[in-house]
Amino acid sequence: MADQTIAKYLNELTILTMLRIQGQASRIEIARHLAVTPATVTRLVNNLIERGLVQDVELPNPGRQANREPGRPATNVALNADGAFFFGVEVGVGMLRFALLNLAAAVVEASEMPFNGRMSPEQVADEIALQVNRLKDNPAYRDGLKGVGIAFPGIVRSDGFVVNLPIVGWRDVDFPRLLSPLIDLPFFIENDANAGAFGCAYNDPSLPGTCTLFLKLDAGCGGAVIVDGRLMRGANGTAGEFGHLRLSDDGPLCGCGNRGCLESRIGLAAVAEQFWGTAHLSEIELAELPGQIVAAARRNDARAIETLDSFAHWLVQGLVSLVNLYNPSVVFLAGPLAKLAEAAIDRISEGVSRGIVTGVPAPTLMLSSLRPQEGAIGAAAIAHHHTFDISRVAVITPR
Ligand SMILES: [Zn+2]
Repeated sequence: MADQTIAKYLNELTILTMLRIQGQASRIEIARHLAVTPATVTRLVNNLIERGLVQDVELPNPGRQANREPGRPATNVALNADGAFFFGVEVGVGMLRFALLNLAAAVVEASEMPFNGRMSPEQVADEIALQVNRLKDNPAYRDGLKGVGIAFPGIVRSDGFVVNLPIVGWRDVDFPRLLSPLIDLPFFIENDANAGAFGCAYNDPSLPGTCTLFLKLDAGCGGAVIVDGRLMRGANGTAGEFGHLRLSDDGPLCGCGNRGCLESRIGLAAVAEQFWGTAHLSEIELAELPGQIVAAARRNDARAIETLDSFAHWLVQGLVSLVNLYNPSVVFLAGPLAKLAEAAIDRISEGVSRGIVTGVPAPTLMLSSLRPQEGAIGAAAIAHHHTFDISRVAVITPR
C-alpha cells in the first residue's frame, strides 16, 4: 500500500469510528478531527457515500449552524446503518446464539438455537455456514454482510485454533480449516468472555475506557481485560482465565486439577451442589437454577440464602484480587449467574471496597445489559472492529 493509500484508509476508519461514537458530525468537525483540509474531507466523504457507508443527514436547526462550509447545504454526515452487517455466533453448552449487528454496531437480529447433547466441530461449522447463507439469501443483507465473529467457551489461540473447550468436549480443533471452505467472508475467532467483554465496551462508548474487567458467571468463570479499548490477550491469546484464580489450598476439586479455584466455588456446578445437594441436573434445570435461588431467597428459604451468601462471599474474594491486580474503572458481571450477583450487588460492592488495598479506588460493578447474547454480540462487534474501526479511544477526546 502506498503511503497515500494508507493515509486514506486510516482517515476513512477514523471517520467511521468518529461517526459510530458521536452519531453524526459536520464536514468541518471531521476536517478538524483529522487535521486535513475541507477539500480532502469532501473527497473522503464522497467516496464513503458512493460505497453506501455514510450519508448526509439534515440538521435539526440548519439556520443556527454557523461554521458550515460555504455553499454547501446544511447537512451533517452520519453512518448509513444499513451499509454493512456483521454476524456473531456464540457456541455454548446445548445452545448456539446468533446476533447480527449493523454498521452503527446496533443489534438488528438476535436468536438462539438449543440443541440436545453435544455438537461436533464439523456440525458447528456447517450450522454457521447455513446461517451465513440464510442471511445472504435475504436481499436486505446480501451485499452488506462483511464479516463473521465466533465465540467459543474455553481456550482459543489468537490464530483461531481451538485448544481446549472442556465444557463442550473439544480439544485441539483447527476450526479455521473447517470453516474456511464453507464461507467466503473474513471470520474472527475469540474466547466467549473476551467477546462478551469487547461487546459490552464497544456498545457503550461513553464508558471510561482505560481498564475494564469482565467476568462471565456461568458453568465456568471466564474473564477478560480491556485496556485502552483493546483486549489483553496475553502471548498466545489465553489470558483472563479468572475462574482458576486460586482462593485457598483446600476446597472443591476444580476441572483444572487444582483445589480452591474461584470457579469451583461460584461456577454453576458449585451453586447447584449447594442449593440442590447435587450438580447432576439437566440443562433445563441448570438454566432455571439462578432464577429459582433468587425467588427462594426472597421467600426467606434458608438454603437459598446460604447459597447466595456463599456465592457473594467467594465472588467478593475473587473480585478483590482482580481489582488489586488491574485497578479497573468498571467490572462487568455477565452470564446466567449474574442474576445471583444482581440480587446481592450492594453487598458485593461493599465487600470489594472493604477488601481492596487502601488507595486502590473501588470500581463500578455493572451488570451486562447485553445478556444473554453478549458472546454473540461481542463476536459480531469484533468482526465490525476489524473491518471498520480504528480505535475506540481515538475519538473520545473532543478537539
Ligand atoms: Zn481451576
